[in-house]
Parts: sequence; structure tokens; C-alpha cells
Amino acid sequence: MSDHLAPRACVAGSPVAHSRSPLIHNFWLRSLGIAGRYDRAEVPPGAFAQFAESIGKDGLVGANVTVPHKENAFTACDKLTANAAELGAVNTLWREKGALCGDNTDSAGFLANLDEQAPGWASAVEQVVVIGAGGAARAVVSALLARRAERIAIVNRTLERAERLAAHFGPAASAHVPAALPRLLARARLLVNASSLGMAGQPPLDVDVGLLPAQAIVADLVYVPLETPLLAAAKARGLRAVEGLGMLLHQAAPGFERWFGARPVVTSELRALIETDLARAGERRP
Ligand code: NAP
Repeated sequence: MSDHLAPRACVAGSPVAHSRSPLIHNFWLRSLGIAGRYDRAEVPPGAFAQFAESIGKDGLVGANVTVPHKENAFTACDKLTANAAELGAVNTLWREKGALCGDNTDSAGFLANLDEQAPGWASAVEQVVVIGAGGAARAVVSALLARRAERIAIVNRTLERAERLAAHFGPAASAHVPAALPRLLARARLLVNASSLGMAGQPPLDVDVGLLPAQAIVADLVYVPLETPLLAAAKARGLRAVEGLGMLLHQAAPGFERWFGARPVVTSELRALIETDLARAGERRP
């Protein structure tokens, strides 16, 4: 098959230059021997509808969607998976019999990463603390409830946002201000940072992991730097620490399978490729 006819997918966003999705998908295309390609598409605000129209034409079999278009993608879809409908945001698009279809793979990516890096975590996860109340926190809370977490405390700078999230998910979820963290951490078996705090260029996340029980697991969705100060502190205390890069890699797999017809695997080689790229960009240590 010539390159022109080979299936192609892309990540649509603005800005999109920093996205590691092309590295991930092109690695899988190469290692599975599939003729295809995956590009970046800079889609400015206001141009999403036109971009969505192009899916299914000229070899474009689908797309990932990133900031600021995840809600636009949700609105543009004719069909949604249950997860995308639950989260109100779409990060994976494809077309079926003319209909634009959307999925959200963040919850699946979060769970696959936690299963891989902290096997058995779900057997003792009565109390969870989730920091943040944006799109990522929503995907995390949904995923944790699917795995029968009993109580999820959502802690956020803007309390109203945490309250809206907690109300959406029902009585298992509750909303708190950051000042409540010391009390909440003392009983938490799993702490998840789903805020932007601790990311390179953002303020640090001020959490005392010394307050967590000795069996607690600490997960950070931030992957730039790869080892956030939160994870470093958790490791220093002997707690199980789960980094965010694995979620990025695992959330990419369902889209690849839909577009290119083969289930890819998150290997140590792929992980090393992305780690090297992050380090090269000078982002590993801000
Ligand atoms: P978002 O919708 O913009 O939400 C950002 C969250 O961080 C909000 O809860 C916000 O609180 C909080 N926050 C931001 N700046 C803050 C500050 N200075 N002080 C206190 N709180 C602050 O973003 P998102 O899409 O949910 O993403 C959140 C993080 O998860 C990002 O770092 C993103 O890179 C990461 N992420 C990683 C993956 C992965 O695959 N590993 C996937 C998705 C997201 P307010 O509500 O008060 O503004």
C-alpha cells in the first residue's frame, strides 16, 4: 500500500506541538509492521467542526483530541461510548457508517496503569483522596467507582467545582477544601493527584505524605517531570508510587486498536522512548 493510501490518524489540539501521541502511535505502527501514520493537527479554537468533518475522508481513520477541544468533540459526536457520555468529554474519535463516534479512554488508561504498577490495589481501597476537580479528576473518580471504591474525597482549590463533581457521582463522593487534607490523608489508602500542581512550570503540590497510613499508594497523573516531588516523597517514605506516564501510554491503546485493527502493548521499550524524549526536552527536571 502506498503511503498516500495508508490509514492515518492524528492528535488534534491547540497547542499540539508538545504532544507525545505521535511518538507512541508511530512506535506501535512500526513495531506491529502496519503501514500507516500518525501526525499532529494544530486545530485552532473555532475550527474544530471543520476538522471533525474530515474524519473518515482521505485516509484519516480517526483522531485523538486534546486541549481545548475535548468538550467540542463530545458535542460533535453522533454516537458516544458509555464512558464518554459519563465524562462529558471525548479524547478518541472515529467514524462508523457515516456517524462520528467518540470515546474517552482516560479512565481505562488510569486503571490499566494502576493495575500494572500497584497490582492488588483495589482489594483495600475503602478511602481514596483525589486532588483536583477538572476533566482528569472526573475520569479518575469514575474509574475508581467502577472498581468499587467506597469513599472518594475530592479536594480542590475551588470548592464549588469539587462539589459539582461529587454531586454528579453521588453519595460515595464528597467535596473538600485543601485545609481538610491532613484529616483525610490519615485514613486514605490511595492518594491521587489529578490536579496540575507539581507539573513543570506550575506551583508545587503541598501534601505531607507522612500523614498517610503505611500501606497507602500514591498516584500522580502529572508526568512532566516523570518523578514528581509527590512521588519522590512517597518513595522516600516506602509507599508504593505510581507515575503518570503509564496512564498516558495505556490511554492511547484503545484508539490505536480501533483505527489500525491491532491491539498494541505498552512495553518497556515504548516507555524508555518517551522517557528519553521528555528528558531531551529538558522537562524531566524543571
Ligand atoms: P483541568 O481541567 O484544567 O483541571 C486542573 C485542576 O488543577 C483543577 O482542579 C484546578 O483547580 C487545579 N489547579 C490548577 N492550578 C492550581 C493552583 N495553582 N492551585 C491549586 N489548584 C490548581 O486539567 P485536567 O485536564 O483535569 O488535568 C489535570 C492534570 O492531569 C494535568 O497536569 C494533566 O497534564 C494531567 N493529566 C495526565 C494524564 C495522563 O495520561 N497522565 C491524563 C489527563 C490529565 P481549580 O478548579 O481550583 O482551578
